[in-house]
Amino acid sequence: MTTEESIRGDIVEVGRRLYSRGFVASNDGNISVRLDDRRIMTTPKSVSKGYMTPDMMVIVDYAGNKLAGERDPSSELKMHLAVYEDRPDVKAVVHAHPPIATAFAVAGIPLDRAVLAEVITTLGCIPIADYATPSTAELPAAVKRYIKAHDGLLLANHGALTCGKEVLGAYYKMETVEHFAQISFIARMLGGERLISRDEVTRLQGLRGMYGIASPAEICADPAGAGAAAGECQVIQSPVTDGPRLVHETALRRSPSGDEEIRLTYRELTALIEDAVKALR
Ligand SMILES: [Zn+2]
Repeated sequence: MTTEESIRGDIVEVGRRLYSRGFVASNDGNISVRLDDRRIMTTPKSVSKGYMTPDMMVIVDYAGNKLAGERDPSSELKMHLAVYEDRPDVKAVVHAHPPIATAFAVAGIPLDRAVLAEVITTLGCIPIADYATPSTAELPAAVKRYIKAHDGLLLANHGALTCGKEVLGAYYKMETVEHFAQISFIARMLGGERLISRDEVTRLQGLRGMYGIASPAEICADPAGAGAAAGECQVIQSPVTDGPRLVHETALRRSPSGDEEIRLTYRELTALIEDAVKALR
């Protein structure tokens, strides 16, 4: 049974692991858990995540107002609230600044190549949410553009965010993001990744169900197949590597008329329409 006390202990443990693995420096990073439909438990601000105690946690409502706890929540809590709002299936969110993944986020390079089976089956492609000033309302808005379809995001010039059904699960995804970034970086030093074939990507996608992975973090599907019709990410031939590449962002290609055509996934199109409607309000 998951009690509030055990959740406090799990958050302390995740903080310890984030700090000991160098995924955060100083007082960086934050962790939160959905307790029920009214309350969220989260880490306090201005505390090293490696040295927290269970009593330090803060309980807030879904508007970010403090309900209990001696300390105040992190100013980055808004980003967590945005995830809970858009993902009813998510029970925990972890935000950190793991150095290699953050370097990809700083360089503007998404982790979107089909190279590791475990990444394809757990996270799919890992896009970069646009840069936004930390702690402002811009950051939750940037996260909202992608979080409906992804369990792991890079945050441009900032760090990474992962979510899951429980806090250790969300943390393990952060480990996977950083591990994937390290391997991708070294592989590029060694001359570049050899990508997994399109058929294998499709097969791996099928394995997700076997592993009980029902998150909406889409694995990219064949553009000519059902995936495109269902509005999932798409696999295109990468001009650089001539292999399949997981595409989650706007893909540009030449149409028969020679005009540049913007191709969007269904979710991206929905996000753009939502943005436009909001702007009209
Ligand atoms: Zn941060």
